[in-house]
Amino acid sequence: MSTVENAVAAPADVHLPIYMDYHSTSPMDPRVLDAMMPYFTVKFGNSASRNHSFGWEAEQAVEVARGQIAKLIGASSKEIIFTSGATESNNLAIKGIAEMYKERGNHIITQVTEHKAVLDTCKRLEKYGYRVTYLPVKADGLIDLDDLKRAMDDKTILVTIMSANNEIGVIQPIAEIGKLCHERGILFHTDAVQAVGKIPMDVQKMNIDVLSVTAHKLYGPKGVGVLYVRRRNPRVQIAAQIDGGGHERGMRSGTLNVPGIVGMGKACEIAGQEMETEAERLTRLREKLKTKLEGALDYVHVNGSMEHRLPGNLNMSFVYVEGESLLMGINDIAVSSGSACTSATLEPSYVLKALGLGDDVAHSSIRFGLGRFNQEAEVDYVANKVIDVVQKLRELSPLYEMVKEGIDISKIEWQAH
Ligand SMILES: *Cc1c(COP(=O)(O)O)cnc(C)c1O
Repeated sequence: MSTVENAVAAPADVHLPIYMDYHSTSPMDPRVLDAMMPYFTVKFGNSASRNHSFGWEAEQAVEVARGQIAKLIGASSKEIIFTSGATESNNLAIKGIAEMYKERGNHIITQVTEHKAVLDTCKRLEKYGYRVTYLPVKADGLIDLDDLKRAMDDKTILVTIMSANNEIGVIQPIAEIGKLCHERGILFHTDAVQAVGKIPMDVQKMNIDVLSVTAHKLYGPKGVGVLYVRRRNPRVQIAAQIDGGGHERGMRSGTLNVPGIVGMGKACEIAGQEMETEAERLTRLREKLKTKLEGALDYVHVNGSMEHRLPGNLNMSFVYVEGESLLMGINDIAVSSGSACTSATLEPSYVLKALGLGDDVAHSSIRFGLGRFNQEAEVDYVANKVIDVVQKLRELSPLYEMVKEGIDISKIEWQAH
């Protein structure tokens, strides 16, 4: 591994390290924290306490939040089930539907670039006798709707396809998928973690039956999420996966995280009000970053569709650069790489591999995740820094030298060692 010297200085208005990893989590918006504060101390009641004002006060706050969240996705308050986050929401949706509809069929359709909370849940169901189809994606990261149609059969009970991907930001054709499902009486679940609050989502217009969302990716607190469960046309049944006091219409027992829920409600309210201007701003910043990188460097490419993409996402491969050295070189910038740390070894991202990228190119990829608190000066700094580091690493790269000299490196027979 090679390291490079830091030659790019940060201007006075840029504070290091820079956070550009908003798909992993987001800081809380200070307005969200303000809304939550009283519910930790003076308004501490259990929202299930029916006999006194402490309980009523908490319950009322929860109902306000339910309304704020429902409004953002075109649902009604009664269709909002609180959970501990999207991992739980995805588990509850898929396992809960599989259990409830097993008389009708045992087939589930999903796709290969889903989050692990969906893929591993499906894998577990396979052990219990369910049949799962994992649709491939095209080179742009989108599924092919004809593949989906062909995969549907009379045993299909559920289609679960994410709204937007957490690595490449690609937005799937959710309304079209919902329509295909409803025409055939198949339930449609979507992991909408990366989409809600970032792009318009409407469970009615998009024919979504069940939808997962988490607060900490939209400037709310960690450890609280929602499962939207449709109540009419059709009325969706979900078998509880946690037994207990019968909270949340019997679908999810456990005392509600009242401050967290209040925060999630506030975060959704803000997102609804500011989504449009924020999306415009982030798109502009993202395009600036992309233009700068592409202008200064050769052998870089964007992973995933640019047309169907979240405003704040840019996933780029820097070919002929060793991924780990690149990340080391830009260690004052918080981004994610195209490598996943599994059991101490670096595995190339399965999402990038599904697009057809080789291991090396996947490893040399970076996900830039821009969000609410990124400033233009940060984007400039990040672009300059990445350009500088990539150029320096390539100066040290014999592979890059050969490519520049016009040698076709795919024809070289490497000596085994
Ligand atoms: C972060 C994420 C999850 C998991 O959400 P948690 O609330 O952290 O459990 C699920 N799906 C997607 C697409 C995500 O980005």
